[in-house]
Amino acid sequence: MRQTQEFPPLNMSTPSNPSEIARETLRQLALRRIAPTPDNYRKLYHEIAGTRPDDDALPEAFVRKLARRLPRDSAERQRHGHQLDQALADGRDKAAEAALERYLDSLKLGEPQAWNELIGNLLRQWEARQTGWTPARKREALDRVLGAADPAALYTRLQGLLKSWTQAMTDADALAVEVPDAADEPDASASPRADASTARPATPARTAAAAPPPASTPGVDSATIDALRELVTISLGEALPPLLEEQPPLRETAATLCAEAASRSEAAGLREVGTRLRAFAHELELAAADEAEIRAGMLELLRMLLRNIDELVLDDRWLAGQIEMLREIVDSRPDPRKIDDAGRRLKELIHKQGQLKHTLAQSQRHLRDMLAGFVDQLARFSESTGAYHDRIGQCAQRIAQANDITEIGPLLDEVMTETRSIQDEARRSRDELIVARGEATAAQERVVTLQNELEEASRLMRHDQLTGALNRRGLDEMFQTESARAQRRGTRLAVALLDIDHFKKLNDSLGHKGGDDALVHLAKVVRQHLRPQDVLARYGGEEFVILLPETGDTDAQQALVRLQRELTREFFMAEMQKIVITFSAGVTRLAEGESLESALKRADGAMYQAKQAGRNRVMVAPLHD
Ligand code: GH3
Ligand code: MG
Ligand code: MG
Repeated sequence: MRQTQEFPPLNMSTPSNPSEIARETLRQLALRRIAPTPDNYRKLYHEIAGTRPDDDALPEAFVRKLARRLPRDSAERQRHGHQLDQALADGRDKAAEAALERYLDSLKLGEPQAWNELIGNLLRQWEARQTGWTPARKREALDRVLGAADPAALYTRLQGLLKSWTQAMTDADALAVEVPDAADEPDASASPRADASTARPATPARTAAAAPPPASTPGVDSATIDALRELVTISLGEALPPLLEEQPPLRETAATLCAEAASRSEAAGLREVGTRLRAFAHELELAAADEAEIRAGMLELLRMLLRNIDELVLDDRWLAGQIEMLREIVDSRPDPRKIDDAGRRLKELIHKQGQLKHTLAQSQRHLRDMLAGFVDQLARFSESTGAYHDRIGQCAQRIAQANDITEIGPLLDEVMTETRSIQDEARRSRDELIVARGEATAAQERVVTLQNELEEASRLMRHDQLTGALNRRGLDEMFQTESARAQRRGTRLAVALLDIDHFKKLNDSLGHKGGDDALVHLAKVVRQHLRPQDVLARYGGEEFVILLPETGDTDAQQALVRLQRELTREFFMAEMQKIVITFSAGVTRLAEGESLESALKRADGAMYQAKQAGRNRVMVAPLHD
């Protein structure tokens, strides 16, 4: 009776066997924070077992019995159990009690709240910043700790890790994690952990609209808190959402945190939002890592795809050039304009490849059919001529053996019939061969027509087949886009026209193929040194047009002079000779609403001046001359 009145009531089902009762006794002692004295054990044990204490049993004997049944299910519990056994054997009551207490402590880690607390602290420390602990180092240490063999060891090691992180924390972090009273930390707002320092400056209008009444936290400058809150709400409410378009849960969290930050006026309240902000930053970090992984994976897939197409169409020069262009785009830093361009090129590539495949399959089918028909015809013809020869041979024999002219008459008739029939056969064969030849010619014509169509389709595409630069059609499209964009944004657009110097001579000395290679080289060098947003198009034979968005005419002139310098550095190799390609260019700025044709006329005038002035130079045609 006595014992049940002394302890808080139990809320559990009664265990049945003695070792379960012993285990539950220990658990309840820990849970209810009762001093682990032998007397208390005895009382609680009987309470759980629903029995009365045996007055004859000595507490020591009882504890000894209990000690024997204690589970030794981890290295730590084995050690404490062994110390308890030793102390009991030596009759050292105090040591026994201490060993039992240590054993009990080891049981505490089985309690969910002990783990809850540990995990909570670990998370806080994980997000906090400590001197000497980079995220990578933290992760490495945690990995090592997670290798623990049993829960007890894991618990102990995690506690050790937590301790080392807590000790290494900077003063500023300790402030954020421990959330002391603002009064104790008068300089809290000036802490070096003002992470929003890179955010846009506060706008007074928004502060007035979003902020609650001035902060009343003693010791903290309310204007500073307002300004900080403003920074946080701008970051969360304006800067982040556009970046989280595809992540609705994260966007919602940002909105919630933003609203909370805006509603807190106490430093402590803001710090509490700060703790959640850290957790959110961690989530963002993970999401960004995922995105980066996806992007890298997609690019690798595209590279693989390009490698495969390349192998399929190795003999088509046009396609090979386009693929090379795509590869350049994929291998450089992804850029929306370039990706858009890559998409269009890929579409053209697929279209042209489809046409080629169709043409190829059709001509192959015709060839196969024709060959099979021809072989059949030959076989039939040789069969019938063979039979004719046999029969004529037999007739000749019978004629030779004939004794009487009357015998010869019918034999001659036979020869005539056979000959007529072979003549018919020959005529039929000839007719059939004529038809087959007609079909072959028609097939050939179809192939030629398809090839012409293909050429036409290529011509209609946006890119020049030789250099991979845009062709006129592509230039027109890009000009529409860029001039509309310049007008919309009120930015400038420069137009440059360049013409290779003495290209005729180059053609004469290297041949037409050498000239072509020089054009490819020039286009490649120019593309490499232009900005991603600049547009290169082949305007005519050895003339190129460059559109330079957001660029004035003098800047465009400088950009072209830089290109000239690059061309002297990256010379063109032909027939083991180093050839420096030079060009003359004219640059101008597009007037508002002006057409490409009109701007190019002005640029052409400047280019002509550059030629006149000695070539290898860039002239500007000012807008208002
Ligand atoms: P400059 O411009 O410095 O006055 O001299 P140029 O020799 O370059 O002069 P012009 O513009 O008169 O000559 C251009 C030559 O480029 C004529 C033509 O034979 C050659 N050409 C044009 N298109 C191609 C092409 O696609 N391939 C090759 N190999 N040559 C071309
Ligand atoms: Mg020319
Ligand atoms: Mg020229």
